[in-house]
Amino acid sequence: MTETNNSCSSVPAVGAARHLAQPATPLPGKVRNLVIVLGDQLDAQSSALQNFEPTQDVVWMAEVEEESTHVWSAKQRIAVFLSAMRHFAQGLRARGLPLIYTYLNDADNRGTLALELSQTITQLRPSGLVMTAPGDWRVLQSLRAIATQRNLPLDLRDDTHFFSTVREFSAHAKGRKQLRLEYWYRELRHKHGILMDGKDPVGGQWNFDADNRESFGKAGPQNVPPPARFVPDAMTQEVIALVNTRFASHPGTLHSFGWPVTRAQALLALQAFITQRLPLFGQYEDAMWSGEPWLYHSHLSSALNLKLLNPREVVHAAEDAYRAGLAPLAAVEGFIRQILGWREFVRGIYWTQMPEYLERNALDAQAELPAWYWTGETDMACLKDAIGQTLEHSYAHHIQRLMVTGLYALLLGVKPQAVHTWYLSVYVDAVEWVELPNTLGMGQFGDGGLMASKPYVASGKYIQRMSNHCKGCKYDPAQSTGATACPYTTLYWDFLMRHEVLLKKNPRMGMQLKNLARLDEAARDAISAQATAHRLAQLQGQATVPPT
Ligand SMILES: Cc1cc2nc3c(=O)[nH]c(=O)nc-3n(C[C@H](O)[C@H](O)[C@H](O)COP(=O)(O)OP(=O)(O)OC[C@H]3O[C@@H](n4cnc5c(N)ncnc54)[C@H](O)[C@@H]3O)c2cc1C
Ligand code: SF4
Repeated sequence: MTETNNSCSSVPAVGAARHLAQPATPLPGKVRNLVIVLGDQLDAQSSALQNFEPTQDVVWMAEVEEESTHVWSAKQRIAVFLSAMRHFAQGLRARGLPLIYTYLNDADNRGTLALELSQTITQLRPSGLVMTAPGDWRVLQSLRAIATQRNLPLDLRDDTHFFSTVREFSAHAKGRKQLRLEYWYRELRHKHGILMDGKDPVGGQWNFDADNRESFGKAGPQNVPPPARFVPDAMTQEVIALVNTRFASHPGTLHSFGWPVTRAQALLALQAFITQRLPLFGQYEDAMWSGEPWLYHSHLSSALNLKLLNPREVVHAAEDAYRAGLAPLAAVEGFIRQILGWREFVRGIYWTQMPEYLERNALDAQAELPAWYWTGETDMACLKDAIGQTLEHSYAHHIQRLMVTGLYALLLGVKPQAVHTWYLSVYVDAVEWVELPNTLGMGQFGDGGLMASKPYVASGKYIQRMSNHCKGCKYDPAQSTGATACPYTTLYWDFLMRHEVLLKKNPRMGMQLKNLARLDEAARDAISAQATAHRLAQLQGQATVPPT
């Protein structure tokens, strides 16, 4: 049941009235542009919708099976996209924009964006296609192929939900042997005048990491404000029911679903973060605590990636809070660095390195992902907690992703592509342009150092320092061998030994290799043997692909 309610005789006129808060606008008799809006392009001000002329143009949106199954998408991830798309479509109808919207359960849904688009082109015979550049290389290729096949011009417009363009990043990267976040971040701060006093950074320094990144101490987090969550309305409930039925076997659960799915909700979430969490964001940016999934993070990544929020308004809100004396500079700089820095940086890496980037495996890691990544059933307390909350909320903060789930996979030697599939599946904010460089590059060192200057490796002692997980764990982070040895600690030394030759070329690994040199042959052998036994135990009899 493709919802059109149109006046164009070549298109079957079908109603889908149950989804319509407003009557649908008739389609133009002759269509100039079919304006494609993807599930992560939900901004009424987006570049694709500039110069939209309702008497000539038609918006096209489609829910298709492939986007939820090309990786084994978590239920919350599917639901957030579908619900946000439906709410956005409702807003377009309210504004009187002609819209073709395909529902997932439409009997004639062809299951892929390409097939659905092709069908609409046959029906409407537009003169051209318009869209904002998609966030996913795979999607761009498939839609480009349709435009070529149908001999239609495709007007691909810059995505204004970033401070920079990919062209600017390419220019920055040109001629550099190494790409480093810090230089790109400073360039963007200069260019956009963010946290600047004339030519100098506010506070006289670019980076306040030394003031940030504390742990909670023995007492643990105190009076953490409740996160901004939104009770599902009728439209979201309908989506939840659909996902529970159609994707019943997919990871996770929907009972705690509360993500923002409209711009109004996203703005409320932003405001709540700025007033309640930002002041302590930097201080506890890297801290973890059992059973505390939200802490002082913003939880805005899905709203940003769906384009319900523009990074400019998020960054400006944070800077305004600092200038109004409502949040300390270290917290505000730390937060802005994530968005103006990392978010822009990883996007540049993705679009300048694809498609080869997807296949990179600099450490030649070949193990499969242990099957318990999909269930959380492990006796390692830190992993159980991080995966448990991931399945519960489709959310984990950066350090949980990098230094718990990511670190373990790196130390175990899992192939980066398997790790990438997991991260793209399970998080509510997962879109390939941001997920892939973070996973393959930062988390797994699969690109050999393009994204990160050294592998992010540590022993269990790092997790002990930054959390309370080790207290409730049967393992001991100080031990690398023996029955109670922490697997992270064993695998950490084993990793350094396995990659010693390669890592010696990296000056930033000097201290870690110096510590490795203190281990005698017997200690090395014992660690290797324990690592091998652990690896076998985790991987034996495990599914090599996610269950479907
Ligand atoms: C292995 C791995 C996979 C990741 N996959 C994703 C993903 O699929 N989608 C995603 O949006 N982020 C991803 N990240 C980055 C980061 O972990 C999430 O953006 C963050 O945890 C989202 O939670 P938050 O909104 O509370 O972030 P906060 O901690 O509040 O940070 C504020 C914002 O900064 C941005 N940000 C922070 N760190 C990064 C980063 N490294 N790269 C890009 N943007 C960043 C996000 O938009 C985030 O909302 C990944 C990180 C790792 C290590
Ligand atoms: S002891 Fe090791 S496995 Fe257990 S919680 Fe600590 S770091 Fe994780």
